[in-house]
Amino acid sequence: MSDAAASFHDLTREALRLRVVRWGFSPVHAARLWAYVYLERAETWAAMPELPARFRARAEKELTFTRLPVAAETRSRDGFTRKYLLSLDDDRRIETVLMRFTGRVTACISSQAGCAMGCVFCATGQMGFARHLTAGEIVAQALHVDRELRPATCNLIGYKGAGERLRNIVLMGMGEPLHNYDAVMTATDILCDTAGLSLGTKQITLSTVGVVPGIIRLADEARPIHLAVSLHGATQEERAALVPVAKKWPLDELMAACRYYSDKLQRRIFYEWTLIAGKNDLPESAHAVGRLLKGQAAQVNLIPLNPTTGYGGTPTGQEAARRFQQILAEYGLPSTVRQRRGIDIAAGCGQLATTR
Ligand code: SAH
Ligand code: SF4
Repeated sequence: MSDAAASFHDLTREALRLRVVRWGFSPVHAARLWAYVYLERAETWAAMPELPARFRARAEKELTFTRLPVAAETRSRDGFTRKYLLSLDDDRRIETVLMRFTGRVTACISSQAGCAMGCVFCATGQMGFARHLTAGEIVAQALHVDRELRPATCNLIGYKGAGERLRNIVLMGMGEPLHNYDAVMTATDILCDTAGLSLGTKQITLSTVGVVPGIIRLADEARPIHLAVSLHGATQEERAALVPVAKKWPLDELMAACRYYSDKLQRRIFYEWTLIAGKNDLPESAHAVGRLLKGQAAQVNLIPLNPTTGYGGTPTGQEAARRFQQILAEYGLPSTVRQRRGIDIAAGCGQLATTR
């Protein structure tokens, strides 16, 4: 029996094993192929000399490798952030960001080309929805960042784990990950596979605009990744003015889903709040957030608005951000102000966008 040609990077280790067995080969070859790609970082069939010729011929016929050629790369002046414009097979493009913080490297990965959710202050929302990414295209972004971290010599001698390691992934690039649930979850399974890239599930954070059925599904499937929920408004009216999908999934339903998730998984949720001067950064907003989240295992991440062409608001200054934090603390809510990274190359939160 023959399967439709697939991308190798779309397959979990188990899916690969099943395919290889269906082709009539030993699962040992599937394991070897998997290790070549995810442990040794082989990128071509030629770089896999130990695969038996007959197996390799079949695998080459049945499987392709997802490649995302770099159309452009920009580096921030401070050297901490690199943004990659990556090309998809259909000539669409996505952006992936590598961010260095003290002691760790984080990849900010896209889940869709564009986004259908239309948040008013977000460049991705302003460009509209093109399509979902495949699991392979999501995995390939992580592999790209991983490759960028390797010393050049490792490309010559085969990768054995030298150099910096990609340790954290945030699904906070272009798109709404819970709108592309299956592909995103397959990708996280592949990234966390302990016989491969072996990222810890606690090192992956998924940020959602508040897709209620997706949050419930994450809870029911007990997905071990971290969850961040974009709030931006603590009343239905305030939120819906910034996040149009709040009309579909109103604040009370969203909060019920978040409580269900936290209770079921006994896990804290991160809430993101883009601080827009004079709009949602006043003390009364902070008190409303406090009342909304009081008693929940929650942490609030405040993100001063990053500029986008389609939205005229201005970011909250340091003093007002601190005042906002103090009010949250009165309700027992820990908060952080997100470090601003890559703003000069439009690689900050909500600044990722591409034209076809
Ligand atoms: N679609 C997901 C993840 C991508 S956006 C989501 O919306 O959660 C990642 C974070 O950046 C979200 O909290 C989003 O609201 C925020 N964001 C979007 N545009 C922004 C902007 N211009 N300035 C600051 N944060 C922004
Ligand atoms: Fe989409 Fe998130 Fe941007 Fe909203 S903030 S438009 S959900 S990417």
